[in-house]
Amino acid sequence: MCDSSQAHRVVVIGAGFGGLEVVHRLASAPVRIAIVDRRNYHLFQPLLYQVATASLAASEIAWPIRHLLRKRKDVTTVLAAVTGIDSAARQILLEDGGALAYETLVLATGARHAYFGHDQWEPYAPGLKTLEDAVTIRRRVLRSFERAERESDPERREALLTFAIVGGGPTGVELAGTIAELAHGNLAGEFRRIDTRKARIVLIEAGRRILPGFAESLAAYAHGALERLGVEIELGLPVDECTDSGVVIGGRKLSTKMILWAAGVQASSAADWLGVPADRANRIKAEPDLSVPGHPEIFVIGDTATIDAWHGEPVPGIAPAAKQQGRHVAATIRMRLRGDLRPRPFRYRHAGSLATIGKRCAIIDFGWIRLRGPIAWWIWGFAHIYFLIGLRNRVAVALSWLWIYVSGDRSARLITQGEPRPK
Ligand SMILES: Cc1cc2nc3c(=O)[nH]c(=O)nc-3n(C[C@H](O)[C@H](O)[C@H](O)COP(=O)(O)OP(=O)(O)OC[C@H]3O[C@@H](n4cnc5c(N)ncnc54)[C@H](O)[C@@H]3O)c2cc1C
Repeated sequence: MCDSSQAHRVVVIGAGFGGLEVVHRLASAPVRIAIVDRRNYHLFQPLLYQVATASLAASEIAWPIRHLLRKRKDVTTVLAAVTGIDSAARQILLEDGGALAYETLVLATGARHAYFGHDQWEPYAPGLKTLEDAVTIRRRVLRSFERAERESDPERREALLTFAIVGGGPTGVELAGTIAELAHGNLAGEFRRIDTRKARIVLIEAGRRILPGFAESLAAYAHGALERLGVEIELGLPVDECTDSGVVIGGRKLSTKMILWAAGVQASSAADWLGVPADRANRIKAEPDLSVPGHPEIFVIGDTATIDAWHGEPVPGIAPAAKQQGRHVAATIRMRLRGDLRPRPFRYRHAGSLATIGKRCAIIDFGWIRLRGPIAWWIWGFAHIYFLIGLRNRVAVALSWLWIYVSGDRSARLITQGEPRPK
């Protein structure tokens, strides 16, 4: 039997898709693991937009890390924010002044939204990356309808009923489609002074088409499906400014009280902690085996890493990529512990890309086959339920979706937590 106090010490920062996969794949290896996260839960980000648009409750897409790892006696869960790394002393530094020693370190700290150097836009154009973001967006969207109902000035009412979504990737498309369904379907008939079917949902994309990661034919189909839901799509126009009263695109102002930001990502601060080379989005440029340049004992995976391991192209920032990298790093750690120090290059295998456009419509690009419409939507739904953690959550989400599908009623339409009071 291995003396656990002598076992190799692995520290994983981040209990997202990548970090958790490392921990799962190291089960029964001769290691002691500490997993550190600033939140006490693992978040299923692909369904965040459903919390933001009142389809699912927050508790349906997040699970306490400690509970997920309750059977793993070799794993210690640490709730703390990491603020730095002392690589010479092989310690990570915590916000509360503490430190944690490692022999092998895995950086899996993800990314958050970015405003391309315009951080001052954030208060007017919240992004969607955390559960707090999703609840804030839900509150603001629902409150816009409530304020419009009581607004007597027609121009101000129109601005309250205009929703601008910046970014035509999967998140922007999903937000636009679901808000359109909410305004033009679910809420219609519930208000007395406003007609929510007249709400404008405007999707703004700087490129020449939406969904650049998908085949042109699927993106064109999604474009048409969004328009049928009543979404206006503005292409080829960069955002010049976001303010309290609206968004300026291509020199033209769209008056709105609700701008949602789904445009850029910025990796965590992991590159700064180590002072190692990073790309423009601050992702660490990983070595072929996913180690950090100059630090063979530190690995970097998921959204906070960049590596050209997809037939020479960069690996996409999606959950399956983070999981594959987590699996690869766990296998490398096991090999090293057996004395095999040969570098093992990581290769990414892309299973497919999925996006939903509304309640009964999705697109799927498997490469070898492309699907669209209701069939794609059912496959999308089953795939997401399969990847959720735990039977209870799978059943809860499946029932919520079935209920929305059959009745059109979104039960998570609660306005919780007030706007922060001005200081
Ligand atoms: C709105 C949205 C929709 C998406 N939709 C899809 C989709 O449909 N399909 C898909 O495949 N992918 C989707 N993605 C992308 C996918 O969620 C990410 O690629 C994936 O989560 C990356 O995994 P990760 O392990 O690198 O990071 P994450 O899952 O983001 O985990 C990072 C973890 O690190 C922790 N952390 C960060 N900094 C610190 C710190 N300083 N100290 C301690 N802990 C820290 C965080 O709390 C977090 O738990 C979506 C992302 C978003 C935001």
